[in-house]
Amino acid sequence: MKLGFLGAADTVTGSRFLLETGEAKLLVDCGLFQGFKKLRQRNWSAFPVAPASIDAVVLTHAHLDHSGWLPALVREGFRGPIHATEGTRELAGLLLRDSARLQEEEAEFANRHGFSRHSPALPLYESADVERALARFHVQRFGPAFDLNGELRARFVAAGHLLGAASVVLQRDGRTLVFSGDIGRNEDFVMRAPQVPEFADTLVIESTYGDRRHASIDEALEQLAAVIRDTAARGGTVLIPSFAVGRAQSLLVALHRLRENGSIPKLPVYLDSPMAIDATRLYRRFNADHRLGDAECEAIFRGVRFVNTPDESKRLAQLRVPTILLSASGMATGGRVLHHLKRLLPDPANHVVFAGFQAGGTRGAHLVGGAREVKIHGEWHPVNASVTQLDGFSAHADADELLDWMRRLRRAPGQVYVVHGEPEAADRLRHRIVEELGWRARVPEHGETVDVPL
Ligand code: ZN
Repeated sequence: MKLGFLGAADTVTGSRFLLETGEAKLLVDCGLFQGFKKLRQRNWSAFPVAPASIDAVVLTHAHLDHSGWLPALVREGFRGPIHATEGTRELAGLLLRDSARLQEEEAEFANRHGFSRHSPALPLYESADVERALARFHVQRFGPAFDLNGELRARFVAAGHLLGAASVVLQRDGRTLVFSGDIGRNEDFVMRAPQVPEFADTLVIESTYGDRRHASIDEALEQLAAVIRDTAARGGTVLIPSFAVGRAQSLLVALHRLRENGSIPKLPVYLDSPMAIDATRLYRRFNADHRLGDAECEAIFRGVRFVNTPDESKRLAQLRVPTILLSASGMATGGRVLHHLKRLLPDPANHVVFAGFQAGGTRGAHLVGGAREVKIHGEWHPVNASVTQLDGFSAHADADELLDWMRRLRRAPGQVYVVHGEPEAADRLRHRIVEELGWRARVPEHGETVDVPL
């Protein structure tokens, strides 16, 4: 069997792994490249094999860097099933529809203001492409193996990280190839600890935080509380650009806990993202798949004001009291948060808090890196507000947790491929796998194909 690393091989984004047996072609994940322009340009390249020749896709989870190119794959001719858990299908519906809308809006905005080098600017895909992709989803449960093409079977193992997120175990003739997908944390505000497949003859593992140790949940809570107390004392607004799906719900849980134990003043909390509101409702519906109970969900969500319409969002600009404002997107690459950033960044009373990973090249990475001005909608804006990054809210295992996860496999894999990390993080994890576990591990190159015993 041949395994091609079509993405997430020198970066955290664009997860796409192509498996070729004699007869069949399978794709594990079909993600969008995000961040640096050099990476985003890959989204516009033709897929390396004809999409019509791919028999099936297995999707680890709904995040766009794993699912976001599916609409383009279907538009370009893919006609097979997309296997995913129910939680993944529901969240992918939200994320992909939003992705198409953002791309349509960006293209339209660029055309109206004439700052695109392409005329006319075109979206990568449209809403209709998303609906065609969603119609191809086949829901599979966690646990039982399902048939892929008569010769290969697959199984989803709960990975924590995000509602519906899974590791994928592929099996043939007693041999296994495991894709870790994104692995969650043992301690998490919402999701349960990740489970580990029994065996992996070959393992493809993520390394987003392969060179890092996360703060604990308690440290993250205290850091957030300190920011909120300081900002409230000087009459400012705490703006939290947040991933609408997953991170926003963790932050709501955190804010609820801090309010309950008196660590922060009872400020109004606004959730200004229709997608985050929808995702929050999905987390309530799928409450068997995470650690929050019914009563806790109710209590948490009572403390938040949902901001649905653009007019309600604009009215937030009139607020003159200290406020906590959660808005998407999480790396400040698009969405309503851009309008809030334009308004809030010039004033030193305000505080912008990033609670997640900021991919290189994004506006979020520039701000966290100390930029004194940022470009939004083609114009430069001064940065006088405080900017903080909290890492305790990560939904990804850190390096120690990744190693613990691997130690729980019942025998050593013959080969480990380290993917889904910036080059330093991937190489550092590779080094630790070799040194501490004594396993064969390497970091594949973008576009490389290897032989896998399966
Ligand atoms: Zn993810």
